[in-house]
Order: sequence, then C-alpha cells, then structure tokens
Amino acid sequence: MSKHAGAVSQLVEQLGRLPGIGRKSAERLAFHILRVPEPEAIALADAIKRVRNDVRYCAICFNLSENESCAICNDPNRDATRLCIVEQPRDLMSLEQSGVFKGHYHVLLGRIAPLDGIGPDQLTVDALVDRVRTSNFAEVIMATNPTVEGDGTSLYISNLLSEFPVEITRLARGITAGSVLEYANREMIADALTGRQKL
Ligand SMILES: [Zn+2]
Repeated sequence: MSKHAGAVSQLVEQLGRLPGIGRKSAERLAFHILRVPEPEAIALADAIKRVRNDVRYCAICFNLSENESCAICNDPNRDATRLCIVEQPRDLMSLEQSGVFKGHYHVLLGRIAPLDGIGPDQLTVDALVDRVRTSNFAEVIMATNPTVEGDGTSLYISNLLSEFPVEITRLARGITAGSVLEYANREMIADALTGRQKL
C-alpha cells in the first residue's frame, strides 16, 4: 500500500512513468507541485492537455504542428531545393537550433529496427518517396542518427531515392558514432551540416 493519500500517490505514480524519473524524483516533483502557487500547477496540467489536444503531425513533413501543415513547410523563405531527413521531431528541433539549415525536412517518426520489429512501412517512408517524386529537390540530406539502425535506415532510403535525379548526402561525422542528434551541441550540428558528404 502507498504511504501517500490517494491523489498524491496517483500523481507520484504518473510522474514515475516519465522517462528518467525514478520513484524518489517522482515524489519530489509531486511535492513540488503541491507547494507551488495553484495557477502554476494548473498551467502545467493545461500545457499537458493542450499538447495532446492541439498538436499533431504535419501532413507534409510529419514535424509536430498545431495546424494541418507546420510553420517550416509554410515558410516561403525556406530553400525548397533541399530536404533533410531526420528520425524524430526532436532531431529536427536540434538541427533548427543550429540555424545552419534553411531547407525543408522530412521526419521519419522512427528508424528501421528489425530487432524491434520496425520496418519501413511503420515509418513515413512512402510519403517521403511521394514527396521526392512530386517536388523539385536538388539535394536530400540524410540526417538519421549515426547508429547501426540510423545508418541502415539511411542506406535503405538512399537506395529507394536513387531512381530520382537528386543528390543524396549525409551529415559529416562530426557527431561521434553512437551519439544522437538530440544531445549534440549547436556547433557539432553546424559542423556536421556544413561538412556533409555525398552518400
Ligand atoms: Zn511540415
């Protein structure tokens, strides 16, 4: 039996489900939420509700968006000849924060991971191929993570896209093998982008 009152133990349990949050941290967070001014705690709950109600995937690039298509896809000042392929929306955010890339993105929403039973059909690969077929991209930049699965995904996609007249490049290995875009700093990402190589 839990040592906390019902509502508190429920909150601790929910917080404890978050990645990287153990039982002790969950308890700390729960008591923090009880201590802060009420509007602050309610704002947190509202932000969680809002993100679940209002945020969806962009119909074009599968970035997170509050509209049918995202701000990047709708920006006429972005370079429509370059397409950067990433695994997750958070990778896109890391690349955006580097400020180097001004083209468009395509988010795969994962990577091919045979051991986890994830094949290309569970990703946004079909939409990507359609997009490349019907757009005028000159360059497709593979920015999957430099892991075994990320590299495998990149290879699979570059084979699929080889029938189109686009140059396929990948990020330079400024990002150490095994590390992920999410944790790379801005300079590393900028270097990887400017030093990208033909695949
Ligand atoms: Zn988009």
